[in-house]
Amino acid sequence: MKNIIIFGAPGSGKGTYSDEIVAKYNMGHISTGDVLRSEIKNGTELGNIAKGYIDNGQLIPDELMIDILAKTYDALPKGQGVIFDGFPRTIAQAEALKTMLAERGDDMGMMIELVVGEDVLMARLLNRAKEQGRADDNEETIKKRFEVYHNQTAPLADWFEKEGIRNTFTWKGSKETMLSEIFAAIENNA
Ligand code: AMP
Repeated sequence: MKNIIIFGAPGSGKGTYSDEIVAKYNMGHISTGDVLRSEIKNGTELGNIAKGYIDNGQLIPDELMIDILAKTYDALPKGQGVIFDGFPRTIAQAEALKTMLAERGDDMGMMIELVVGEDVLMARLLNRAKEQGRADDNEETIKKRFEVYHNQTAPLADWFEKEGIRNTFTWKGSKETMLSEIFAAIENNA
């Protein structure tokens, strides 16, 4: 399998669709948010640093994130393809990912962009707050995360466009429709 980068705003379904893709194609999965939350839970030094940023809806500094990403990637089995969920979130991270993969004889494969209206995103995140109790899923932090997304992450969509690997999927109200469109695109790219 080729690598996949799943890209979109907070609440756009990156984690949900990643799980479906991983189950269907037996790929590796790196969710940088999950990596950081597990570090926080285990009370590590990295977790202590990350907590301040996450609780404020801000991004962890690029250098730190890039280092974590490379270590996590190298710990996964080779040759299965990896889905990158929540990384890259800045142009610097995207450039670093491209270089890191090239150094290992791999490439970014395809990028899947999830486009969902902000009202739907907010409703989903507030609902997730009730179900999962994530500390950063409160209205104030969600607004901050949207702002960070618009300013720092959304411009990356054009970067992927220039790389020729951008595939956009727009939410039309049905998870099944999204999934079948995404699976078809993955199979076309295989
Ligand atoms: P997520 O679970 O992907 O929504 O990530 C939750 C939080 O973790 C984000 O709001 C950031 O604070 C932090 N985070 C996750 N991935 C990254 C990344 N690639 N770069 C910087 N911060 C990140």
